Amino acid sequence: MSDTDGRIRLIILGGYLGSGKTTWLRHQLHDGQFQGALVIVNEAAETAIDDALLGGSDRLAVLAGGCVCCAAKHDLIDLLRRIADDRSRAVSTDSPLDLIVLETSGLADPGAIVEAIRSDPVLVYHIVVSEVIVAVDGLHGMSQLRSEPLSRHQIEVADQLIVTKTDAVEQNELTLLLATLTAMSPGAVMSGAVKGVSHSLPEFNDAIAETLQDFAGQELKAPISPTRLYLDDSIDWTAFTVWLSALLYARGNDIVRVKGVIRTPAGRLLLQTVRKIVQSPEILPEQGDTREDNIVVMIGRGFTHAQLTKSLQHFVGSQGV
Ligand SMILES: [Zn+2]
Repeated sequence: MSDTDGRIRLIILGGYLGSGKTTWLRHQLHDGQFQGALVIVNEAAETAIDDALLGGSDRLAVLAGGCVCCAAKHDLIDLLRRIADDRSRAVSTDSPLDLIVLETSGLADPGAIVEAIRSDPVLVYHIVVSEVIVAVDGLHGMSQLRSEPLSRHQIEVADQLIVTKTDAVEQNELTLLLATLTAMSPGAVMSGAVKGVSHSLPEFNDAIAETLQDFAGQELKAPISPTRLYLDDSIDWTAFTVWLSALLYARGNDIVRVKGVIRTPAGRLLLQTVRKIVQSPEILPEQGDTREDNIVVMIGRGFTHAQLTKSLQHFVGSQGV
């Protein structure tokens, strides 16, 4: 686990309507995962949640009556600010809150929530979005990808994909979905679940990802793919982040994720972005697997490794790559 500088980690759990995210979360909680977490459930509708549904969590908050990625964004920010404030003031340090799990509505774009939290001038000091988990309906996921832009947005920002209902779908349909998800979100860790219980996924190396059409019937500009940038030990961290910010400003719609660990004089820093937002970096422990240090993975479309390398070298001078 990474050191989050005392900030509260926040995991966003998203997924399209009916994708099975509540079932999955309930099972995780009953199984003892996310211990001590505050669970925030967002219901876009005005309906009250069934408390028993998430009975495994000792702390539960409900935000009903609007989706927190859009209409109710301020309600979420207000709630998180209150949580951060309460925690700062707490006298007792018996069990300080260090984890929040936010279950979004099925119509939420997790990327928009990440942007809202990371760009809030107060929350940035108190809360770090540590992971975006997205549930994908094994049965209907492929047709949602074909017809719903939102379902694609959800998958593009995922760190972890949970493919649900894998027992209810034919093998060749499932492998097509898995290959297509991998092509869309190559950096995401993927696993299967049936009724919330972890379930192994079939081998899908031979399956060919479907080329998704855009909604005017044209092929998408280019598929999303990962590019690895190898940084020199002498990289100037400040110059690198300025370069990255400028790049995201210009090309943020094409660069959907950036993730990597960079060694700096201040320590090992975990760098992450979602769309145009660079998260304030987390300091990682010196121990652990350092083989991937100074490698930054950039996931997106419409650029090549050579273009990125050239742009970075031009910006930071001869040092760097
Ligand atoms: Zn929304």
